[in-house]
Amino acid sequence: MIEVVGLRKSFGSNEVLRGIDFAVSEGEVVSLIGPSGSGKSTILRCLNGLEQATAGRVTVDGFEITSPKTDINKVRQHVGMVFQHFNLFPNMTVIENVMLAPVDLGRKTKTEARAAALALLERVGLSEKADARPSSLSGGQKQRVAIARALAMEPQIMLFDEATSALDPEMVGEVLQVIRDLAASGMTMVLVTHEMGFAREVCDRVVFMADGVVVEEGAPDQVFGSPQQTRTQEFLSKVL
Ligand code: ADP
Ligand code: MG
Repeated sequence: MIEVVGLRKSFGSNEVLRGIDFAVSEGEVVSLIGPSGSGKSTILRCLNGLEQATAGRVTVDGFEITSPKTDINKVRQHVGMVFQHFNLFPNMTVIENVMLAPVDLGRKTKTEARAAALALLERVGLSEKADARPSSLSGGQKQRVAIARALAMEPQIMLFDEATSALDPEMVGEVLQVIRDLAASGMTMVLVTHEMGFAREVCDRVVFMADGVVVEEGAPDQVFGSPQQTRTQEFLSKVL
């Protein structure tokens, strides 16, 4: 589903990604961990075309994103992304937020989009909030709406960038439960997360990166239980 080969990304003279290789199979759940500033968000942004690679090849769901011939807007419809900050539209109700993209992009009629949005809100446990404004919701509820909104485009892949980092501790669990359910449903996912326990429980594979390179990757029990690289050992000793 995802293939990244020799991905490099610079901002001016700052080379942030220095040759990244990794692949994600259909239905696989991969977590991307590493110190702040190591390039995790930049990788996710290169996976849906929010950032352009400086060099290397990124292929997502059969689309070569790094090819100038590829219609990036089309690719984005296959890749849902959830951010640390929910970015809901404050002037719309919850259900309008979820319906917006499929209607705007001509994928669904309003009636179809409303029915689909209601089903998604049910899936994230928020059907009773359909007509509420985002401002009346808790952080955990807002993030669940943001997940429903990303799912409304029926993506093949979901990317999560620290989806629980901005939440009060008591709201982390409800969002992780939605992500856990999504993983169990077979969705292909890449999660950038600081929730190491969650990564260990839910992910099929863990990729540890530092300073713009992949240092180590493997099954969660292997990376968390017996990390091979000094960098990984140092990082995990601080966060576990
Ligand atoms: P992480 O998500 O692992 O914390 P990021 O991918 O956000 O790391 O950032 C990696 C590095 O790239 C940081 O040094 C950051 O300052 C830099 N960076 C990220 N985005 C930009 C940008 N749009 N312009 C300039 N520098 C950026
Ligand atoms: Mg980040």
